[in-house]
Amino acid sequence: MKKIILLGPPGAGKGTQASRLVALLGVPHISTGDMVREAINAHTDLGEAIKKYSDKGLLVPDEIIITLLAKRLKEPDCKKGFILDGFPRTLEQAEALDRISKIDVAINLKVPDEVMIQRLSNRLTCKKCGGIYNRLTLKPKKDNLCDECDGELHQREDDKPEVVQERLNVYRKKTKPLIEYYKRRSLLKDVHCNNLMTPPEETFEKIRSIVDNAAKKKARVR
Ligand code: ADP
Ligand code: ZN
Repeated sequence: MKKIILLGPPGAGKGTQASRLVALLGVPHISTGDMVREAINAHTDLGEAIKKYSDKGLLVPDEIIITLLAKRLKEPDCKKGFILDGFPRTLEQAEALDRISKIDVAINLKVPDEVMIQRLSNRLTCKKCGGIYNRLTLKPKKDNLCDECDGELHQREDDKPEVVQERLNVYRKKTKPLIEYYKRRSLLKDVHCNNLMTPPEETFEKIRSIVDNAAKKKARVR
């Protein structure tokens, strides 16, 4: 019961919840967004090729991202499971994932548009470790410094208002259809986060009970 997909629009809290699931389940958090940012910061050829998409809020082409992910899932730490955050984002990616691995559950974080926009425009990210904070809901202990590593917090290029709208458009067009895809396979579980000020712990409790129940169900089937 440890192959988990987190679905949901940008700003839904996938990354925040994924970090908590790591602590609970002891499997790696695989964020294609983090992988993309690492490639960009490393200024590799791949990074340069990717940057022009990511800065505009557009998706990186499927073949690039599928290759990256497939490689990552082959690493030994993924044997016991993984938490996918930001992948799949298109139907083609979902089909590719089906060929690589059999997932246990797709958790769909449902968030109203206003909440999403508020979250993204107030989000702060640690330059050093990628830790996620929020000016309204998840303030760092010290202004502009990461609680974990003391790294500097900043606003991501694609969290700037002009890019946020584009990311939402892309989400609706390309990623939202995946909700149906996983529903048809009976793998979808909705988690509602209607309120901006709902603390992440409260959402996590819902996720935890989904994961627990799915594990029990799987044990019974065996
Ligand atoms: P978000 O906060 O919108 O969920 P991410 O951190 O997951 O953003 O991703 C940042 C950027 O990286 C995306 O806007 C996109 O350009 C690229 N990216 C990440 N994951 C994927 C993917 N699965 N397919 C295509 N592009 C991706
Ligand atoms: Zn940090």
